[in-house]
Amino acid sequence: MRIRFCGGTRTVTGSKHLLTSGKQRLLLECGLFQGHRAEAEHTNRSFPFKAREVNWCIVSHAHIDHVGNIPNLVKYGFRGPILMTQGTAALSRLLVEDSANIQESDIRYLNKKLREKGEPPKEPVYTVKDAEESLKYVQGMPYAKPRKLGPYKVVLHDAGHILGSALVDIEVEGKRVLFTGDLGRKKMPIINDPTQVVDADCLIMEGTYGNRRHGEYREVSSRLAEIVKRVYARGGRIVVPAFAVERSQEIVYTLNLLRQNDRIPDVPVYVDSPLASRVTEVYRRYPQYYDDEAMAMLNGHKYLFDFPGLHYVESVEESKALNLSKEPCIIISASGMCEAGRVLHHLKYSVEDPKNLVLMVSFQAENTLGRRITERQPIVRIYGEEHPLRAEVEVMDEFSAHADRDGLLQYVGAMNLPRLKKVFIVHSELDAAEALVEPLKALGVREVVIPEIGEEHEL
Ligand SMILES: [Zn+2]
Repeated sequence: MRIRFCGGTRTVTGSKHLLTSGKQRLLLECGLFQGHRAEAEHTNRSFPFKAREVNWCIVSHAHIDHVGNIPNLVKYGFRGPILMTQGTAALSRLLVEDSANIQESDIRYLNKKLREKGEPPKEPVYTVKDAEESLKYVQGMPYAKPRKLGPYKVVLHDAGHILGSALVDIEVEGKRVLFTGDLGRKKMPIINDPTQVVDADCLIMEGTYGNRRHGEYREVSSRLAEIVKRVYARGGRIVVPAFAVERSQEIVYTLNLLRQNDRIPDVPVYVDSPLASRVTEVYRRYPQYYDDEAMAMLNGHKYLFDFPGLHYVESVEESKALNLSKEPCIIISASGMCEAGRVLHHLKYSVEDPKNLVLMVSFQAENTLGRRITERQPIVRIYGEEHPLRAEVEVMDEFSAHADRDGLLQYVGAMNLPRLKKVFIVHSELDAAEALVEPLKALGVREVVIPEIGEEHEL
């Protein structure tokens, strides 16, 4: 059996790993590569294997860097099932369609510019039609129920990362390979802790935060309550750039708990992202993925994602109207890295006033507005205009959905180490991956590999 790393190695975007046993090919993930336009277009349209020769695809969870390129997989000839949990399937439908809409509207804008310059038009990376076609191949699969795919026996376990996220446990040719997808954290809100798998001969592990430690989630409520009270008292507003999947729901859920316990004042909360609202609807529909605390709340006839004073904003007019009002409020809006979307106009109207606060709760990639705000740069550019950043900035990494360095090492440490011969670290910048090599060896793992893109290994 061989594994070829086809994307998402030494970087956190565009995950794709191809397993081959005889002539039977199983693709783990089909993520969209996000980066500079030319590179992204090329990478997302050219697979380093023949799409039609792949028999099955398994997607660990509904983040665009794991599922976002299935439209091209099908467009280039793949015709097998794309397997994922029901929760991932429901979320992926929203994300992939949203992504296709963004690709189409981006290209419309670009083509207008190209036409003015007399240059030929371009095609979107994929269209809404491509997205819809690919979604026909998606099949739901429950946790803990083995499924035979030719020579592979596959079981999904809860990865505790976002709703429906899975660890992929594969038995083939007498060996067991465990793929973490993105590994979650213990004691996070709404969803369960990651399932501990003990036995594997080979582990393909994410290493996003291999060199970082997060604050613990249990301290989040007190910190968030303190911030809300402080900004409310001075009459300011809080803008929270948040990812539409999981992060927006976690913030709403945490604010809901604080409100129920009278730990924050009666301040209006707006979720201003149509995608986040639709994703929240999926969260409401799938309580089978909730942890005990969330289930207890539901059984007590309490809503998880609704409370007095919480509004889901739909129309653009409603969204814009929020900036006319001077009342203290909390606005949760996408995109999480402040690169596009409605959060931009909220930031534009909020960053110059020291009464306001920008609450950063998500991973911020380099060269994004979110990163510049996190670094508290004195001047930030929004819609091409410079704005002095006078609002207070708070950064809360406690909400991170990824295991940190300790979490990753604890997970591996609880495995059957004499059996575990090899660990591949993927989904990680190089320095974060390198920081895990020695500690993994100290645990007794014989071989730790940080594969490069295109690298192939015999297992
Ligand atoms: Zn993820």
